[in-house]
Amino acid sequence: MVWHFGLPYYTCIILTLFMQEGHLMQRCDEDVKPLYSEVDNVLVGLGDSLERSLAEPAMGKLVQFMNTYCGNCRRFAPTFKKMAVDLQKWNRALRIYAVDCALWENRSRHETGTDIETQNPTEIVEQLIENLSENDYSGGSGIKLNFDPIEPDDELQEVYAQFDNKVSYILLVHPVEIGMETILNMLPYPDVGVRIIKDAEMFANFGLKPCKQKLALLNRSGRVQPIRPKGESSSAYVNSVAAFLERNGHPSMPTWPIAPAPENNLSDEYDAIIVDYVLHSRKVLFQDDLEQAIQQLLHVEIPKTPFISGYKFKALRHIIRLLRRFNVLGRDGRRMLNSLVKHLFEVDEITGEEFRDVVDDLQTRLDPIFTDEQYVGCLGSTPHTRRYSCSLWTLFHYLTVLAAQAKTYPPSSVTIGLYGLAKYFYGCQDGAKHFMKLAKRRMIAQVTSHDEEILWLWEIHNEVNEKLAGDASEDPRFPKVQFPERKHCPECYSEDSDEFDRDEVLKYMKRVYDLEYLSIYDLPDHHKKAKKCTQ
Ligand SMILES: Cc1cc2nc3c(=O)[nH]c(=O)nc-3n(C[C@H](O)[C@H](O)[C@H](O)COP(=O)(O)OP(=O)(O)OC[C@H]3O[C@@H](n4cnc5c(N)ncnc54)[C@H](O)[C@@H]3O)c2cc1C
Repeated sequence: MVWHFGLPYYTCIILTLFMQEGHLMQRCDEDVKPLYSEVDNVLVGLGDSLERSLAEPAMGKLVQFMNTYCGNCRRFAPTFKKMAVDLQKWNRALRIYAVDCALWENRSRHETGTDIETQNPTEIVEQLIENLSENDYSGGSGIKLNFDPIEPDDELQEVYAQFDNKVSYILLVHPVEIGMETILNMLPYPDVGVRIIKDAEMFANFGLKPCKQKLALLNRSGRVQPIRPKGESSSAYVNSVAAFLERNGHPSMPTWPIAPAPENNLSDEYDAIIVDYVLHSRKVLFQDDLEQAIQQLLHVEIPKTPFISGYKFKALRHIIRLLRRFNVLGRDGRRMLNSLVKHLFEVDEITGEEFRDVVDDLQTRLDPIFTDEQYVGCLGSTPHTRRYSCSLWTLFHYLTVLAAQAKTYPPSSVTIGLYGLAKYFYGCQDGAKHFMKLAKRRMIAQVTSHDEEILWLWEIHNEVNEKLAGDASEDPRFPKVQFPERKHCPECYSEDSDEFDRDEVLKYMKRVYDLEYLSIYDLPDHHKKAKKCTQ
């Protein structure tokens, strides 16, 4: 049985179980450390090895589906880690996984399991207990837990029935609610099984006075030892039992290493150099970031969508047409986008997988389109910050400026494209919802000039920055500030206040998001080779 830890804003829209062979582009993210590790008691699920693990019988699985580029997922990570470390004691019955849906390998959608719609660790644990108590432990050679209360006429043999020979004691626990959790909390003791006593009167069946009885240890020959718990909770029960066992020469409960504080450094020294370069430069527009945004969109985000039809399909057509019209991918990129647009006008709907096949097929016939596969202006100073979300903003600011120069599309075409992208193809649902709310409040449909469109997106982005300033998901070296900073554009501010001068901001936006200003950060050759994953 698999429980999906399906937070509402984490989407993992995945269709098939096995990696398809022959995809042209593989992600180059092997060098990005996953958000979790085994030290956190979280296994990182990837592709078909995850499928095999989830198929294992008689083991509960808690799976968090997430997108590492979502602020929400990163914000939740410390809580999830702490909970996972606390649950190490359940390891014989529960495995914990995290699946990064921002990776194409994890596109398969897992239909089995129960969604957990809360981020509150206490509520998650409660739901886990409930689900683990309903699990079928009969299959496989794994652990056998028995959550059924002892029946009034059960003999000693029946009390022990489901346990193997390693189990020399049975802990009798009352009441049921504490008993269920205690079954799991006692898992570190392989020689102690737990059975629930529903009615305290039944302690009399084991020769004990039922009055106020809560806990007792029963051995295989039927000798019973009452234990007085130090409180009314499972952890108090377990502590009392542990103390009793230790007093009687039983080895103490194993302890697990506490997870070390997360390492925040970039693993690749070269990445650290890029971050320093960007921080000391005034440039905001880098070719590599634009390419990365488009690559992630074409190769992962759109293909993750199982079925694209109706408004979603219209939005897709619109986005791809925008990318073609304001092409940033060079000559072969334009060819690919031309053919892609043509294809999207020959059909009325498409699956995500078909979309990716079309993109791959077009790319096999062309020279490499995505060159460095490296974020530059959007590289974070820690492994999981910035990246795709940053590159999307950058791409769309750039498109608003190009649209204003070209004047071929009506005003607000670019922002409507971003609205469609956020609504249908952006993996962070909370960010998408927030953006859509802002867009409606700021009347996206009433943007009547290209200059207004540039400023509309600038303002909305600043509103998002304001909301996220100081947030746990923030990159420590790229704090969320109002853009542009005074030091980069003093004339963008009124002389005597922090108010923006919109005319100056417009000039600044047109300058920094201009093709002329596009920076090509030249990666050294050895680094390019190391980075390249193109087959
Ligand atoms: C549509 C959308 C909505 C989002 N909503 C949320 C959300 O609700 N919650 C959440 O946690 N995350 C949200 N995100 C992600 C978040 O906004 C950041 O992208 C992410 O935290 C990475 O931040 P960053 O420091 O790289 O800079 P970003 O904010 O991503 O900025 C990217 C680059 O754009 C430039 N820039 C910054 N502000 C402006 C501006 N006003 N005008 C022009 N250029 C600017 C800077 O050079 C910066 O490096 C959203 C992302 C998108 C694309």
